[in-house]
Amino acid sequence: MSNILETNGLTKKFHNQIALDNVSIHIPEGKVYCLLGPNGAGKTTLMKIVTGMMQESSGSVRFNGKEWNRNVLNEIGSLIENAPIYGNLTSYENLEVVAKLRDVPKSRIDEVLKQVGLDNNKKKSKNFSLGMKQRLGIGLALISNPKLLILDEPTNGLDPVGIQELRELIKELTKQDITVLISSHALSEMSHLADEIGIIVKGKLRLEKKYDSNEDLEDLFLKTISGVQK
Ligand code: ATP
Repeated sequence: MSNILETNGLTKKFHNQIALDNVSIHIPEGKVYCLLGPNGAGKTTLMKIVTGMMQESSGSVRFNGKEWNRNVLNEIGSLIENAPIYGNLTSYENLEVVAKLRDVPKSRIDEVLKQVGLDNNKKKSKNFSLGMKQRLGIGLALISNPKLLILDEPTNGLDPVGIQELRELIKELTKQDITVLISSHALSEMSHLADEIGIIVKGKLRLEKKYDSNEDLEDLFLKTISGVQK
């Protein structure tokens, strides 16, 4: 199976601090790859480099077999930090703005609204629940039909129902051959979703493997970050 995304020796320094240290991850096409790590491990930094929001200090990224360049962003959707939502617009109108910017036909808007369960919703998005905002954020990321969806801690602040809905949505997306790179501290949730895991500790990739759903992810995580598991 081919990898949709690979990083090769990716390194990011902020002044004298190393946020990412020679990280090489491999994300197989069509899978859910969970990027795990304690606070400040470097997960968001990696995602920002892959989505062109930040420049690496050294190392490289390959997408779909080719060296990363800005054009690959047409095939990558992402939700990193807060969703870029205009509060005084409805979900349809928010998607309309992004569709126009990305030159996507309007017909795609209704498809995406259905996909994220926001069809028939006429509320202004400032009145949305956090779960609805997250779903709209994912909708914005999906508008151009990406091959790879990158979600940085999308479970943050969601209630159990919101988390379950997100899980269903991600499972649905992988059925449509979308690869998902997701970071989260919600380990039990990740254990339901992960096909592959990568664990980063202080900027270094300490473990990368296929995830066997019988494994205790919390135990594996704790052993890895404490250095027991190499
Ligand atoms: P969390 O789980 O808390 O979101 P993370 O794994 O996503 O953490 P990053 O946000 O990637 O971690 O941060 C990695 C390290 O890089 C941290 O020590 C952080 O303080 C530092 N860092 C990130 N962005 C910047 C920046 N723009 N300037 C300086 N340091 C930064």
